[in-house]
Amino acid sequence: MQALPAPTFDDVLDAAARLEGVAHRTPVLTSSTFDERTGASVFFKCENFQRMGAFKFRGAYNAISHFDAEQRKAGVLTYSSGNHAQAIALSARLAGIHATIVMPHDAPEAKVAATKGYGGEVISYDRYKENREEIGRRLAEERGMTLIPPYDHPHVIAGQGTAVKELIDETGPLDMLFVCLGGGGLISGSALSAAALSPACTVIGIEPEAGNDGQQSLARGEIVHIDAPRTIADGAASTHLGHYTFAVIRQLVARIETVSDAQLIETMRFFAQRMKIVVEPTGCLAAAAVLNGVVPVKGKRVGVVVSGGNVDLPKLAQYLA
Ligand SMILES: *Cc1c(COP(=O)(O)O)cnc(C)c1O
Repeated sequence: MQALPAPTFDDVLDAAARLEGVAHRTPVLTSSTFDERTGASVFFKCENFQRMGAFKFRGAYNAISHFDAEQRKAGVLTYSSGNHAQAIALSARLAGIHATIVMPHDAPEAKVAATKGYGGEVISYDRYKENREEIGRRLAEERGMTLIPPYDHPHVIAGQGTAVKELIDETGPLDMLFVCLGGGGLISGSALSAAALSPACTVIGIEPEAGNDGQQSLARGEIVHIDAPRTIADGAASTHLGHYTFAVIRQLVARIETVSDAQLIETMRFFAQRMKIVVEPTGCLAAAAVLNGVVPVKGKRVGVVVSGGNVDLPKLAQYLA
């Protein structure tokens, strides 16, 4: 298959049209306590209220909406143990096509069940012996299915960019925008929207301390690979950026900073107690950076993307205790 061109803001606009009436236009929340503590005016784009509980629905649905008749007939394939699996399964069901998801044999039962619940066919593999990308490629070839990876795809990036488009459409120009990153799909789409709609806005990426491959990549000017990091931010536990995502990040993201797991827990508690919302650890990355003054924000208008809310309840109870 021929490589697709790099994503642009026009692709985000196209994705927004395809998602209209399908994806939720998620709320933008504010908190006077958060503003008092930080001295800033902070707008939270709450993708924990998105369908299936995270922004990933936007990219997955947009990518599948581009399928031609032949691709629709063979179906979609992906590898993921997390929110992208559910996003692909739900999007495929809405599009009326078959979805196959390659998941590790020890993936959390709740996630396997959720993916199957949306009608996805789950194929498990041994994550210590097999490589999911190879399995994915092999299955795609054998079955003629189209592989939609979790972040390194122009249609996925463009779909993810629609959240920040909605945010800035609602708030007007921002001085700063904080976005978490794993493989970088969300932040590269977000940066395309910010650059077009609020050109003076500084885009800042936030990663877990244990998995700062993006920060290292930006510093070195090349994609740095790390070992699978140990962090409660499982949605940002990827080991490297993608080629499409790194190209956008290099151009449009000013800096990448990190926060600790303890800071994520503190932020999860803030969201639950003060704002009455459930946010998964990864979804707290950007807010944790602002709350902890990782980058000075005093007097600024600040956008914060809250990326998702899928957390096991017993675990949440542990974090909040
Ligand atoms: C996937 C995911 C991320 C990271 O997104 P990337 O596009 O890989 O950078 C962040 N938060 C949540 C909730 C996710 O599911």
